[in-house]
Amino acid sequence: MTWRPVDCHAHSTHSDGALAVAEVVAKARALGVRPSVTDHISRDAPTSVDSPAAVEAYLDDLEEYDVLRGGEFCWHDALWRELPPQTVRRFTHRVGSLHSIRLVDGAHFRVFHRDLPDGLSASAYMEAHVASVEALAAEMPVDVFAHPTLVSPMLREIDPHDLWSEAHEERVVSALRAAGIAFEISNRYRPHVRLVRRAAEAGVRLSLGSDGHSRAQVADIAHPLALARSLGVPDEELYDPTQHGSRTGAFDA
Ligand SMILES: [Zn+2]
Ligand SMILES: [Zn+2]
Repeated sequence: MTWRPVDCHAHSTHSDGALAVAEVVAKARALGVRPSVTDHISRDAPTSVDSPAAVEAYLDDLEEYDVLRGGEFCWHDALWRELPPQTVRRFTHRVGSLHSIRLVDGAHFRVFHRDLPDGLSASAYMEAHVASVEALAAEMPVDVFAHPTLVSPMLREIDPHDLWSEAHEERVVSALRAAGIAFEISNRYRPHVRLVRRAAEAGVRLSLGSDGHSRAQVADIAHPLALARSLGVPDEELYDPTQHGSRTGAFDA
């Protein structure tokens, strides 16, 4: 059988995606991509999947389709901590996200906010971002860290080679490696090559994610795949839950 890439991160109408599950599957097929549905599962995100009971109903629905059953969990929201193991095992893979980071004073800052809190410099923001990645990696039993370079919109205007110190990059890579969490190459929030290369060279597995919400975006992982290949990563080593397993236990004997 010829190898086909997996889109480990895409949204449907269960959360804030535009496509029904069947349409996600059809779009991926048309692109030669193996589909996932990886909707937001959180009490603090735009989603209908916002309670343990809603998670069961979501999984019941996904089991009706030939699709990998993922979920995108907010680290800062407690819902992922409340799911029992028998529910977790029904996911083929789970994705963890920093939609809010924890600042040094313990307050959370929503990363989609353009204006930084008064007095918070870009470098202090990045220190809080990296410390939050380290906490996520230590606490959260996910398979993939989503969009590692998602930061406040204001900071995305800075050259990432200036925004990110090499020491911060090293800490992110070390945390993911120690936890066995894959680094997502997001098509939506595209990481700079230096960081992806650092992850690959450290032996962190790479995962492809469209983070698609619209018909045009879902399953479009051409750029992430090209980036992984440009770094010499063999296709078969890109994260595929059915080949590499999942911390959910879905593929355990
Ligand atoms: Zn996200
Ligand atoms: Zn997403």
